[in-house]
Amino acid sequence: MTELIIDICYECNSSCFYCQWNKDNYESKFKEIHLPDLLIPPESLRALNIDSIVLSGGEPTLSKYIREVVKYYNQLELPIRIISNGILLNRNKIKLFSKLGIKEFVFSLDTLSFENNKRHSSNQSKLFKKILENLKNASIIRRDSPSTISFLGLNVVLTSMNCNWYEIENIISYSQNNTIDQVKFQPVFDDGYLSYNAPMLNLTKKNLKDLDKIYLNFRSKKYNSNLTNNIEFWRDLENLIEGKALVPNKCALRSNTVLLHEGLLKFCFWCQHTIYGKSSTVFDHKLINTIHEEFTKNLESCVVKPYCFCLQPINHKWS
Ligand code: SF4
Ligand code: SF4
Repeated sequence: MTELIIDICYECNSSCFYCQWNKDNYESKFKEIHLPDLLIPPESLRALNIDSIVLSGGEPTLSKYIREVVKYYNQLELPIRIISNGILLNRNKIKLFSKLGIKEFVFSLDTLSFENNKRHSSNQSKLFKKILENLKNASIIRRDSPSTISFLGLNVVLTSMNCNWYEIENIISYSQNNTIDQVKFQPVFDDGYLSYNAPMLNLTKKNLKDLDKIYLNFRSKKYNSNLTNNIEFWRDLENLIEGKALVPNKCALRSNTVLLHEGLLKFCFWCQHTIYGKSSTVFDHKLINTIHEEFTKNLESCVVKPYCFCLQPINHKWS
């Protein structure tokens, strides 16, 4: 199963301190995206083995091309998922998107408490409540109308604020009680804005004790294996924070993920050594095999960092 993750726009209406697309930075970061760059030729999709589409960003609900992009991939019968901050995903918008062809919704939400969220973002209480209300409504639609929402997920960025069992158990319990299919955790990484806006959110050795507790709790609770990250994720994170090297050869992007970013098809945002090429290129299997061999040959030159956790599948193990 290979997902095509499309960065469909680079603007956002939220303000997470750790993120470059934070609306407070938006003007200096504005980048024009052209519609043809977002539509990958069907031959290339086949050669890349793409069997699902993920709309990401920035905040994808703000994209002026969302209808055209969804229509294009929906006609090719590819399931479409959107990863959103949830601000605009009220009932009507979800129903509209679902009619267009988006059936899978993932909310990015780091905590259920406004007091704690204040440490992650400058969003006001009214906006935070709206996101929680939209999530609640989405979960009701997921429960009552699986043909409208076939998958509901949460993406949670872990920082020093929420990397503790109290926060994590809250999110997991909420998900189990609200028809949320999956919760994916990933560590915060510093794209320059974390250290500039909120360096205290970074994960450090001070978090190791909490990580150990999280690992032991997950081990004893034995949740459904599809619900959240593989238990080894928490050990990998401890190893990373302790400064132990993780093996880049375990990177799963070759067979799981293709990223479409700024008109280029890539393995990930950070991989410097190998890319697929321009979005307009018509790829065939032979060319893809050559690129995959090149990627594998060069993979050892990667250094596994917190950002390497972001695009890996939910059951990924680095160790
Ligand atoms: S993390 Fe997501 S919601 Fe937050 S500012 Fe960045 S793009 Fe927007
Ligand atoms: S930078 Fe990290 S995520 Fe990207 S290809 Fe290398 S190991 Fe994989």
